[in-house]
Amino acid sequence: MIYDVVIIGAGAAGLMCAAQAGYAGKRVLVLDHANKAGKKILMSGGGRCNFTNLGTTPQHFYSSNPYFCISALKRYRPEHFVELVERHGVEHVEKTPGQLFCATSAKEIVRALLTECEWAGADIKLSTQITRVAQQGSAMRLSTSIGNIDAGVVVVACGGLSIPSMGATGFGYDIARQFGLEVFATRPGLVPFTLSDTWKARAAELSGVSVPVAVSANSRRFVEPMLFTHRGLSGPAMLQISSVWQPGENLTVDLLPGESVAESLREARQATPKRQLSTWLGERFPKRLAQALLEWYPDHDPARPLAQYANAALDEWGARLNTWQLKPAGTEGWRTAEVTMGGVNTDAVSSKTFEVKGLPQLRFIGEVLDVTGELGGYNFQWAWASGVACGQSC
Ligand code: FAD
Repeated sequence: MIYDVVIIGAGAAGLMCAAQAGYAGKRVLVLDHANKAGKKILMSGGGRCNFTNLGTTPQHFYSSNPYFCISALKRYRPEHFVELVERHGVEHVEKTPGQLFCATSAKEIVRALLTECEWAGADIKLSTQITRVAQQGSAMRLSTSIGNIDAGVVVVACGGLSIPSMGATGFGYDIARQFGLEVFATRPGLVPFTLSDTWKARAAELSGVSVPVAVSANSRRFVEPMLFTHRGLSGPAMLQISSVWQPGENLTVDLLPGESVAESLREARQATPKRQLSTWLGERFPKRLAQALLEWYPDHDPARPLAQYANAALDEWGARLNTWQLKPAGTEGWRTAEVTMGGVNTDAVSSKTFEVKGLPQLRFIGEVLDVTGELGGYNFQWAWASGVACGQSC
């Protein structure tokens, strides 16, 4: 079999690239070892796929080269993908400002991409194992479970390591290393935290409780909801900070962002001296959390009115609530991580065509590269944008 372009990976970036290369008149084949295309798209955004973010800028991405993503993101913007989904009649909703989700199901996105591939004449072969990718003169040869395939260009769109049960492998990194590219160390990103014994038990008791917080680590701060789980902490705030957190480090959690607890308590003591701390907490937190806070810090006497609290005690509550220090035991790892931090060093790849410098018949797109977005639709926007840039230039 001979194709102009063979794409490894029928995920977000691979399908987008296939359609664009097909429209450009190329004979295109997409190979995937999974039995279904776009498995991660299907499970994304709680089954509704947060397919883009209208506020996408390069600042929403982590990479050792922060300039690499600029060109593709500029050329294929969120509005372009919105146009595509609307062309396919996909209804969508803006849940949080800028974050667009399918109104019904992520299946709609996969359907739209597969239709694009069909219109563009791109072939897709699933349940296909690829054992070897080798340079063959000016072309490439793939050894696969359906025989040898020759390609003018091979595009590696294998994604990252998150959720192995959905088909994630390190194959893309293996190919990169085989051709002499550097692969930066990988680690799970956008992943829930696990806690150790005492805090794990406390979190488990509050499982399901969600509160808005500001969480900081490594000079980054996110103001988003935090969710207590059976194993630790999750929710957008924790997923976001997990991408910058390093094992062994503390998180600083402000449980009342925008309110100085020490000052508020002093004002409350002045205005309503008979009020109890439990009442004050109950006005600010869900009942279960307000109760738990009093149990975690048993220096508190429930019957004591605020008037009897010295400044030092109020300051202590200020520190507990505004700068709660917490050391996660770890993260839930690849099993539940949404993305992979690190990956193929972009220095060896063109930011315009995504070809390997000095080896234009090999290209890398999507998450396999060392470009990772924050939470909120940015990762798919990167998949679409890099797929389009590569596909159009094939
Ligand atoms: P993928 O979409 O992962 O596609 C890679 C493809 O390569 C897969 O089909 C895989 O089967 C195939 N493959 C892997 N190894 C091999 C091999 N050895 N041989 C052949 N084929 C192979 N991002 C957002 O922007 N919004 C969201 O709402 C969102 N929600 C998410 C929820 C979850 C639970 C997860 C895990 C991720 C979520 N993401 C979200 C991230 C997003 O899914 C990824 O960033 C995006 O899918 C990356 O696209 P990709 O094409 O590079 O890789």
